[in-house]
Amino acid sequence: MAEKKKEDLMEKIVSLAKRRGFVFQSSEIYGGLSSCWDYGPMGIELKRNVKNAWWDYMILKRDDVEGIDCSILMAPQVWVASGHLKNFTDPLVDCKECKKRWRQDKLEDQSKCPECGGGLTEARNFNLMFKTFMGPLEDAGAIVYMRPETAQGMFVNFKNVVNSSRQKPPFGIGQIGKSFRNEITPGNFVFRTREFEQMEMEFFVPPEEDEKWYEYWKNQRLQWYHIYGIRPDNLRLREHDKSELAHYAKACADVEFMYPWGWDELEGIANRTDFDLKTHQEHSGKDLTYFDDQTKERYLPFVIEPAAGADRATLAFLLDAYDEEVKENGETRVVLHFHPKLAPVKVAVFPLMKKDGLDEIAKKIATDLKEDFTTFYDQSGAIGRRYARQDEIGTPFCLTIDYDTKEDNAVTLRHRDSMEQKRVKIEDLTRVLKEEIKNWKR
Ligand code: ATP
Repeated sequence: MAEKKKEDLMEKIVSLAKRRGFVFQSSEIYGGLSSCWDYGPMGIELKRNVKNAWWDYMILKRDDVEGIDCSILMAPQVWVASGHLKNFTDPLVDCKECKKRWRQDKLEDQSKCPECGGGLTEARNFNLMFKTFMGPLEDAGAIVYMRPETAQGMFVNFKNVVNSSRQKPPFGIGQIGKSFRNEITPGNFVFRTREFEQMEMEFFVPPEEDEKWYEYWKNQRLQWYHIYGIRPDNLRLREHDKSELAHYAKACADVEFMYPWGWDELEGIANRTDFDLKTHQEHSGKDLTYFDDQTKERYLPFVIEPAAGADRATLAFLLDAYDEEVKENGETRVVLHFHPKLAPVKVAVFPLMKKDGLDEIAKKIATDLKEDFTTFYDQSGAIGRRYARQDEIGTPFCLTIDYDTKEDNAVTLRHRDSMEQKRVKIEDLTRVLKEEIKNWKR
């Protein structure tokens, strides 16, 4: 894609997101709060579907992964043990002229301000954790941190899950939840924000199996994005070289997506070794080893971690789904080619006319379909306009109830992607729609 077209794409997505209720700026009536975003009626459905797709694939469909949901505030010692208090920093530089602040490692030319060309100060390490106080006293003893990752919840609950679920390595613990990072340069819409949601899973394995499982999870995660419709050309795996690795990692790879500004991280998959369990064992004084009944061996498992962002994934699915198609009559059709499981609305139901009983039949069909699908009923405007409005939010199926419906008890099913239409008996709708969703291919 040409550079100009790529820039336009981001503008178009931001504008569509606002116009159709995907994403709004936070506190907009007060001028907005920088880098904070609210999900609107369509956006919340899309993001929930993304999270459900992750939960389904990573937890529900597997026997070897358990889900948990931990509190955002954790004992401050967790962040001492994990190394976040000391190491979770980014190098901050200030422009001596315009006073803007930058994250040094993200600057192409680290010698000058990318905005005004002014000289930069020496880099200082800036800790990204948000602090707050617990209880009524605002003193040092009351400081707690908003978690900067969900992962630590899985480590500190390792023993609880082993004891209550009777899982044994190799097995995983996953959760979805909010994390907070006081990023120096948030931006690119919901790509980098200070409050965001993560979908993380810690997979505990016998130490000698770490490399095998690292390969396994890299492939699984790439496959997940493929299954949910991201074009393979827009995805790649990038292995980190040694200098890039975090202090706890033996190996790390990013799933990268081709954003309008170029390849950038979507998700990270890391081999965290036994770093986390070991450090929590040391700091808490609690035994976090696993005893294998069969081999009679006691060991600290290694951990393979696929860590994804729900907001980043939602943005990638939006960008990848967006298309403008020029129709035969010269008009442009804006369409989001979402996987039906991710689409905010699955089925839209239209009576051809809002009279002669067609609206009654259509309302009844819509109510019945709500049992199984997110369904939207719309009786206003020309049918073409109604289709266009659904294409723009990515609704995969539209049903039209016309005068023939009264004779043949069938409706017209129109596909978003091919725009093909076929007649389907009302009694078969649920079955046919379920099959269409199951068999969907990009
Ligand atoms: P980056 O290098 O982009 O700052 P990271 O490598 O620090 O990200 P991880 O700690 O690996 O990120 O977090 C796992 C995932 O959480 C990321 O791949 C991303 O999808 C998401 N994520 C991390 N930071 C943010 C953020 N500030 N805003 C939105 N999503 C984020």
